[in-house]
Amino acid sequence: MNASASAPATAGIDFDAVIVGAGVAGLYQLYRLRELGLKVRSIDAASEVGGTWYWNCYPGARVDSQSYIYQYWFSQDLINEWNWSERFPGQGEAEKYFNFVADKLDLRKDITFNTRVTGADWLEDQQCWAVSTDKGETLRCRFLISCTGMLSAPMVPPFPGHEKFKGIIAHTARYPRAGIDLKGKRVGVVGTGATAIQVIQTIAKNVAELKVFQRTPQYAVPMRNPKYNDEDRAHWRAKASELYQRVNSTFAGFDFDLDHGSWYDKTPAQRLAILEEIWADGSLSFWVGSFPEVLTDEQVNAEVSEFVRKKIRARIKDPAVAEKLIPRSYGFGTYRVPLETGYYDVYNQPNVELVDVSQAPIEAFTENGLKTAAGEYPLDVIILATGFDAGTGSLTQMNIHGRSGRSLTEEWRQDIRSTLGLQVNGFPNLFTIAGPLAPSTAFCNMTTCLQQQVDWVTDTIRYLREHHQTVIEPTVARQDAWVKHHDEIANATLLVRTKSWYTGANIKGKPIRLLSYIGGAAKYRQICDEVKTKGYPGFALA
Ligand code: NAP
Repeated sequence: MNASASAPATAGIDFDAVIVGAGVAGLYQLYRLRELGLKVRSIDAASEVGGTWYWNCYPGARVDSQSYIYQYWFSQDLINEWNWSERFPGQGEAEKYFNFVADKLDLRKDITFNTRVTGADWLEDQQCWAVSTDKGETLRCRFLISCTGMLSAPMVPPFPGHEKFKGIIAHTARYPRAGIDLKGKRVGVVGTGATAIQVIQTIAKNVAELKVFQRTPQYAVPMRNPKYNDEDRAHWRAKASELYQRVNSTFAGFDFDLDHGSWYDKTPAQRLAILEEIWADGSLSFWVGSFPEVLTDEQVNAEVSEFVRKKIRARIKDPAVAEKLIPRSYGFGTYRVPLETGYYDVYNQPNVELVDVSQAPIEAFTENGLKTAAGEYPLDVIILATGFDAGTGSLTQMNIHGRSGRSLTEEWRQDIRSTLGLQVNGFPNLFTIAGPLAPSTAFCNMTTCLQQQVDWVTDTIRYLREHHQTVIEPTVARQDAWVKHHDEIANATLLVRTKSWYTGANIKGKPIRLLSYIGGAAKYRQICDEVKTKGYPGFALA
């Protein structure tokens, strides 16, 4: 059925659903709801589809999930027709994949691009959302589904003097689509997270000078990224349905799992052999495919951290620089683990300087560069790889008001609470794909967890229609129970001790809580499925 032509469910309502975002989740959600016969409008601030892969077009941006599990599973045609060129594709290739999907499923006709949602108000009398955009439009819809991604609101550090700097300043998530000519330039990169590492290793050889402003070093794992030929692709295609089952049954939505058994059941030699084996795999399996105790047991974590420190030390010629690049203030895996390709070797180049800003912080932009407490660094281009207001930022910036005018921004400024990361009490018919307190906020191969959440939302809307109901909202008790369960698991891990975007600690004033559910993607899926099959206990349906 051509759903775009179908009549809205109720007079006065323009759309059954408005979806915000046309990235990994948004495209799939649009497809699924059209399939249900709903009248749907998608809105995206970008000029094209792709979400993360549209915005993060900085040098070296690359997927760090294996391509053969970074895809949609619902269509054998898509699986058959798309050809990944390597194990970890670059941003351009990932963006092309989402464009290919949008073309193939004819999704663009229901997407409004270059448009930002500026507000959403729940209209009690009509039981619908009024969604306003920066183009002056107001759309009334029964369901509002945010598919804005957990890392889409850039965090720009508040250094004064932005306007004084005579060169170019670019945040990695707002990097100019046409690129910046860095050849022969003096470039400063602020930050050393997963994004900065990709930028630094990519540009270091082409620029005249590179200054890396590091506050906290990372435990980066070398990426092994073979090119794929037809035989490789045929191999993965033939395994598609097996992989689909597998990724939906593991801790982090990958095809590897924490299945080496307990650290304590192994001899030191066996532990080392396993660590070397997963290190050599060159993927995130060294992190979420190792021992279950790594993220919970201080002793195990200390040993694994030391293993990685030795690997880093061996790559750097200058021992003083090596010591600066070795993390000591937190344990391995408690800050998102980056994959790297030649990152550490960059610091052996004469044109690269590691500027430690942990003791002498960056104070301001100046006319000519950046000023730290230790001095001024003249630069032509400053790349801010300073991260995001993760999990909540895109939602709190959307000006959402639920029942009785309750402001989501205000509520989450006090405490970040949700039910399954999918709904919030007081905000009926709002679904938050990749919202806080679900594994999709951080602890998952994104395509696995986003498709699972989209499927849940779709099944929920179908259920409501089949039961002649129009509104769903979690009760306070159900929400409290989810937050309690989430916190119990989170607080038993070492992650809550590390300052990073995982807990919101990178944003001044943000309430601290592990943003991602860490009970495992498979367990989360089971919980969501149970809610569905039991008829939504703890949710008020009307
Ligand atoms: P991030 O991990 O939050 O790193 C931000 C960096 O900026 C940190 O090094 C931080 O230092 C630094 N920083 C922030 N404010 C600063 C200041 N005032 N002075 C000096 N340094 C400052 O952000 P990200 O690197 O963009 O990565 C975010 C997430 O995106 C990753 O964790 C990952 O989930 C995802 N990602 C995925 C891929 C992929 O391959 N798929 C690639 C890139 C990113 P502190 O640590 O001291 O705060």
